[in-house]
Amino acid sequence: MDALKRYDPEVYAVIQQEVQRQQRNIELIASENFVPTAVLEAAGSVLTNKYAEGYPGKRYYGGCEYVDVVENIARERLKAAFGAEHANVQPHSGANANTAVYFAFLQPGDTVLGMNLAQGGHLTHGSPVNFSGRTYNFVPYGLDPETERVNMDAVAELARQHRPKIIVAGYSAYPRVLDFKRFREIADEVGALLMVDMAHFAGLAATGYYPNPVEHAHIVTTTTHKTLRGPRGGAILCKQEFAKDIDKAVFPGIQGGPLMHIVAAKAVAFKQLSDPAYKEYCGQVVKNAKALAAALVERGYRLVTGGTDNHLMLVDLRPKGITGRDAEKLLDRVSITVNKNAIPNDPEKPMVTSGIRIGTPAMTTRGLKEAEMVQIADLIDRAITHRSDEAVLERVKAEVQELTARFPLVVE
Ligand code: PLP
Repeated sequence: MDALKRYDPEVYAVIQQEVQRQQRNIELIASENFVPTAVLEAAGSVLTNKYAEGYPGKRYYGGCEYVDVVENIARERLKAAFGAEHANVQPHSGANANTAVYFAFLQPGDTVLGMNLAQGGHLTHGSPVNFSGRTYNFVPYGLDPETERVNMDAVAELARQHRPKIIVAGYSAYPRVLDFKRFREIADEVGALLMVDMAHFAGLAATGYYPNPVEHAHIVTTTTHKTLRGPRGGAILCKQEFAKDIDKAVFPGIQGGPLMHIVAAKAVAFKQLSDPAYKEYCGQVVKNAKALAAALVERGYRLVTGGTDNHLMLVDLRPKGITGRDAEKLLDRVSITVNKNAIPNDPEKPMVTSGIRIGTPAMTTRGLKEAEMVQIADLIDRAITHRSDEAVLERVKAEVQELTARFPLVVE
C-alpha cells in the first residue's frame, strides 16, 4: 500500500487501525469473515477501471474481452458448486440480489411470504422500514413459540390463506436447518415461486454441511461475503427458465455497470468452493459453533432453540440480567465483537434487545478450534458476570489479545 501511504496518509492510517482492530479482536459477528489475500488482490485490481454494462458477449461497451472471461469464470464456478442451471454474479450486494428477484417477478402490491425480521428474517424479506415491505404486501411468518423453530404447518396455512406470488425462505438470525423440500411443496400447492436467500449458510450448503437450497428452490439469492468468504457482494442462482428475467432485472432493471473488480474477487472466492481445505473449514465452522453453544449453555446461558445446527447461535441474555445492547458494548470493551439481536418475542426495543448473535465463520478462518471456543465462552461469561469489576475486564481483554495473537490474521 505504498502509493496510498504516500498520497493519502490519512486514509492509510485508518486502514492500518482497522487492520489492527481485526487482528486484535475476537470477531464473532455471524455475517463476517476474513477473505484470503488472493480475494483482496482481485478486489483491489485495475478491473475497477472498466465499464461493462450487459453480460459476457453482450456488452454495451468495447474492451470487455478480458472482463468477459472473468465473469464467465465466476458464473461457472458458482453454478458448479451448487449444481445450478444459471448464475448472475453482478448484484452489488445481498439486498440488491433480493431486490432484483422481486423486480423480476412482482408488481407493487403483490403478496409475498417472508420470515419476520424480529424472528430471524432479513430487512429485505418485507420489513416495513425496507423498500420490500413498502412496495409489496409482505405477510410475515414466524417461529413456533414453544420450539422457537419455523412452524411449517403455519407457513402452509398462511400460504393457503394469502396465495403469495413468492415465498421467501432464509434468515439472518436462525440457528437451525430449514426444510426446503417442504417450502417447495407449499409453494407448488399455492402456485408461488420459492426464493431461498442463502446469504448466511451458502458456504455450508456448497460443502454439504447444510441442505443445498438449489435442489428445491426456483431461485436462490446470496451474499458473497459471509460463509462464502469472498468480497462484499451478491449473486443469484436460478433454473434456466428464469435466467432471462433475472438477468434483465439486475441489468438494466436495478443496476448499471457491474463492479468488475468485485466480480473477479467473487471468481477467486468461488474457487475455494471446490477446494478440500475450504470444505474442511466449513465442517470446522459447524463444529466450532456446536462447541461454543455447548460451553455457553454449561455456563447458564439460554440459547434460542437450545443450540445450533449451523454457524450461528442466538443467546437470550435475560437470565443474566443484561440487555443485548449493553452486552455488545461491554464485549466491545474487552475486544470481543458481537451484535445485539432480538430473540423471538423480544420484550425489548430493536435498538436494545434481549440477545446477542454469535457466529463462528470468521474465527474459524483464523484457525481456532473447539478448545478455543470453550475459552471464548469463558471470556464472554467472565466479562458479563463481572461487568462492574474493572480489574476482571482488563484481565479478560488481555486474555482476548493473547488468544488472537496466537492465531494471527495474515494480511500479506
Ligand atoms: N439476506 C440475508 C439473509 C442477510 O443476512 C443479508 C445481510 O446481512 C442480506 C441479505 C443483505 O446483504 P447486504 O448487506 O450485502 O445487502
